[in-house]
Amino acid sequence: MAAANLLDFDLDGLGTFFELLGEKRFRAAQLSRWIHQRGVSDFAAMSDLAKSARARLLDVAAVQPLQLVSERESADGTIKWLFDVGGGNAIETVFIPEDDRATLCVSSQAGCAVGCRFCSTGHQGFSRNLGAGEIVAQLWHAEHALRKRRGSGERVISNVVMMGMGEPLQNYSALLPALRVMLSDHAYGLSRRRVTVSTSGVVPMIDRLRGDCPVALAVSLHAPNDALRDELVPLNRKYPIADLLASCRRYLEAAPRDFITFEYCMLDGVNDSQAQAHELLALLHHAPSTRIPSKVNLIPFNPFPQSGLLCSSRERVLAFAEVLRDAGIVTTVRKTRGDDIAAACGQLAGEVQDRTRARERLARRTVAIHAAGSGRSEIERPGLVSGSGERT
Ligand code: SF4
Repeated sequence: MAAANLLDFDLDGLGTFFELLGEKRFRAAQLSRWIHQRGVSDFAAMSDLAKSARARLLDVAAVQPLQLVSERESADGTIKWLFDVGGGNAIETVFIPEDDRATLCVSSQAGCAVGCRFCSTGHQGFSRNLGAGEIVAQLWHAEHALRKRRGSGERVISNVVMMGMGEPLQNYSALLPALRVMLSDHAYGLSRRRVTVSTSGVVPMIDRLRGDCPVALAVSLHAPNDALRDELVPLNRKYPIADLLASCRRYLEAAPRDFITFEYCMLDGVNDSQAQAHELLALLHHAPSTRIPSKVNLIPFNPFPQSGLLCSSRERVLAFAEVLRDAGIVTTVRKTRGDDIAAACGQLAGEVQDRTRARERLARRTVAIHAAGSGRSEIERPGLVSGSGERT
């Protein structure tokens, strides 16, 4: 029988596992602290566990890290790890140090089935969901590798964003225990405000997350109307903007923050006009049916060859931001980090054995990009992944 990977379990799961071994449930907290807080994977070293429990664990369990393929460090201190997750797939995890925080960007799937037009992961297609242990192992590796590097037992990572490869809400059954490990006082003890789930808008799962484990929520919006968002984020055809914003308003009833962050990737000539800035303002701020407390994060697009898209000029980004700021919406322009090691937003691409044939479809199709406020423009581009469906 294969050994159980203890990184797969949240505290409750670890307690149940211990009970099944005939051990006391409360011992799970001790075990969790050894694994997650001290980074220990050798049961023999867990000195406050009974010898009999340690021997039993040796027989049936293991702490299985991910197989590290490479580690690259950017001139700005950003670190990107590439992990082999088997079957020809590799995923990426990125550490982003800043003055007041240290953020880990974590992947939830090998590839992604959503197929956003501007996203390098989306262009790779989808292979499989990661298990809870594979999500947690990214944090486990990063936290303890960084402590070792710094020669200190002090906690390094203060924030986690589920913004790496994959749509986390399409892998909900693994996401939920992983989030609970991140938040547990017997593991990483992160505040709910400092753990962010980023979604392209899987409406029913936003509602489930609100009930099960409300953490900070970021929504990949990228367009001020359905016509354009249908093209950029194909999931919008299933969950249009009005439904998405309604679920965000429900989410705020339980959220640890009193606003939703909306991510908006700035694409030259596609979604970055002044008219579109005003349309976004009307959507988030003025229209009674969709108005919502918001923070907007403008992300300069990181071009990659297959996308056929360009980044908006700095002037256009700043002019867009000004429209929102003038109306009182907190608007940030994301600083590009780690672009010299392809670790910047939208650049994570690991290695994916695509089971959705996304690459072929993307290469074949021509799409119409509807530029809101400026009529419809036909642009010859590789197409979008369509009908990729949900996997949760
Ligand atoms: S932006 Fe997110 S949801 Fe869209 S394709 Fe990329 S990883 Fe998937």
